[in-house]
Amino acid sequence: MGQPAGAPWEASSVGDAPISQPDEPAPSGLHRSLAVLERSLGGPVTAAIGGLARDVTAEICTGHLLVVAPHPDDETLACGGTVLRTLAEGGRVSIAVATDGRYGDPRVDPARMAEIRAGELERAAGTLGIGPGRLVRMGFEDASLSANEGRLADELARLVRELRPDVVLGPCSWDLHPDHAALGRALATLSDGGPRLFGYLVWGWARPVRLAVRAVKRATAPGGRPRLPRRPVAVGVAAQLDAKAVALAAHSSQLSPDAALAGRAVGGTGPLGAEFLLPFGTGREIFFPLRRG
Ligand SMILES: [Zn+2]
Repeated sequence: MGQPAGAPWEASSVGDAPISQPDEPAPSGLHRSLAVLERSLGGPVTAAIGGLARDVTAEICTGHLLVVAPHPDDETLACGGTVLRTLAEGGRVSIAVATDGRYGDPRVDPARMAEIRAGELERAAGTLGIGPGRLVRMGFEDASLSANEGRLADELARLVRELRPDVVLGPCSWDLHPDHAALGRALATLSDGGPRLFGYLVWGWARPVRLAVRAVKRATAPGGRPRLPRRPVAVGVAAQLDAKAVALAAHSSQLSPDAALAGRAVGGTGPLGAEFLLPFGTGREIFFPLRRG
C-alpha cells in the first residue's frame, strides 16, 4: 500500500500520511465530513464497479501471471486471490515487488521497517504459494519510484523478457499514491506484443471521491486527454478468501488491531483498518485493461 498524499479538499498537503494515520492533523468541518463519507464509499463503489466487470477468470488463471507491486502488501491486497486461484487452476505465478516499504509506519525506524516488511512479504508470498524463487525484490526504496521512472521501466522490461509472462497485473497509473502511479506508468511503456496488461487500484478504492476529482482535473486541464478506463474485468476469488486473509495477516505491520478481511480477523500493529480492507474482500478482484504508451 504505502502512504498516499493528502485529500484534494485539504487546504495544504498533509504529506504522505493516510487518513487513519495517528499523526495526521485532524481535519475539521466539511473536510471531516467528506473524509468520513469517502471512507464509507470504498465497499459500495467496489461492488458497483465489480458489477460492470467482465469475468476473465478462465483467461487469466491458466497461464503465467506476473504480479508487480509497488510495496510489500499490495500483491496480496489487490491480487492475492488471483494468485491463489491461478495456482489452483494450474497456472504459474511470479511476484515482483518494487520497493522495500521502509516508510510503512512513521513510528518505526525506516531501516528496521524495511527488514520487518521483507520478512512479512516472504511469509505472505509463501502463504500464497510463491516460494523465494518466484519472488523478485526490485530493490527500490519506498517512495522513490517517481524519481526513478526510467530505471524502473528498464527493470520491468528486463523482468518481462526474462520471465515471459502471459499476463501482467500491476498498479493503475491513476491510483493516488505516487509509487503506484509511477509503476503504472512504467507498465505502460512495455513494448507491444508482450503480455496482456491489467491494472489494479489500492488507494483509489479507499478514496473514490478524491480519485474522481483528480480524474476530472486532469481531463479538463490544458492538454489533458479525457480517456475513460476500459470496461473492468474480474477474477472470482470467493473460494480463496480464507487463504488470502491468512496471507494478508502476514503484513501485520500495516494492519490495525481490529483489521478484518471479509469477516476474517487479520489484526496487526499498523494503521489500516477493516473499512480500508472492504474492497479487497468482496470475492472478486477487479482489474482495468491497461493501454500501452
Ligand atoms: Zn502500496
